[in-house]
Amino acid sequence: MHALARSLAKDRLAHAYLFTGPHAIGKTTLARALAQTLECPDTARPCGECIACKKIARDRHPDVQIIEGVPVGFKFDEKSPPPPPRANDWERRIIKIDQIRLLQHDISRAPFESPWRVIIVRRFEEANEEAANAFLKTLEEPPAHTRIILTARDASLLLPTIPSRCQVLALRPLAPAQIQTALRERWGVAAETARVLAHLAGGRLGWAIRASENPRLLEARHAHLAALHATLTEGHNEKILRAETLAKKDEDLPEMIEWWLSWWRDVLLTQHGDAARVSNIDFEDTLRAHAARFTLEQIQDALQAIRQTARQLAQNINPRLALEVLLLKLPA
Ligand SMILES: [Zn+2]
Repeated sequence: MHALARSLAKDRLAHAYLFTGPHAIGKTTLARALAQTLECPDTARPCGECIACKKIARDRHPDVQIIEGVPVGFKFDEKSPPPPPRANDWERRIIKIDQIRLLQHDISRAPFESPWRVIIVRRFEEANEEAANAFLKTLEEPPAHTRIILTARDASLLLPTIPSRCQVLALRPLAPAQIQTALRERWGVAAETARVLAHLAGGRLGWAIRASENPRLLEARHAHLAALHATLTEGHNEKILRAETLAKKDEDLPEMIEWWLSWWRDVLLTQHGDAARVSNIDFEDTLRAHAARFTLEQIQDALQAIRQTARQLAQNINPRLALEVLLLKLPA
């Protein structure tokens, strides 16, 4: 990340960058590293040690602003309290024109304490058309002391005039070994944790860093997998009850679905004798047991049933009903 940020800054500096790639692949991490490269006074930029680098790492630098969409229905104005943190990667938000206007007002002034004002706008695909059009003016004529970094899942989700005014960099998934090394060397994560997170990350360095800093992510995963393992031995009535309990926390369901899919993919890989590609490496024994217990057909049916539930949930089908159907379809 830091090497990439350095090489980006070494080229003739673009006014605006667009980093694209799947959720949590590390776009914002790279944006912070590029901001550090711009603001750090050290010759070996970014040093990671100076006040500027440390403030940026903690999102406390007065000249480096990170903004993202607000929840649907959230009234944004200058005096409104900051929106709540994003509940999960699937939460739908909107970047509103009022946010862009406030940003434009801020960047019209010189930076407080460093060479640049750096504006990082996350998930620009969430900007509504009004906001995206307003932002175009800033991209066309950014103030001299300003550098802009946008992130988005894919450039094709934006108004075409946005990426055409940015230097676009598409981030690709990293191999587990690369993530493991980065976690240990850059983020000081303990060896065993780094190994597990690197395999769970699915190539997304940003996710791995977030999980290393936020134990809740792994705790939630344990709970989701425990629920799956338990329901495979339950009777009809227990499954109905469990579906009801799970449906009450419907904001957690997209995350649960992802972990349940990753589980059955791993059972499939284990059965194929392809254990090297397994994600849930800290559950080797249970994976082996499930690979022996279920037939190939049962595993494929489970994957298909979970994918179908994901589609139904996205179409706002009653979560309790969708989960009842799913739990009754899973093999016993
Ligand atoms: Zn520094």
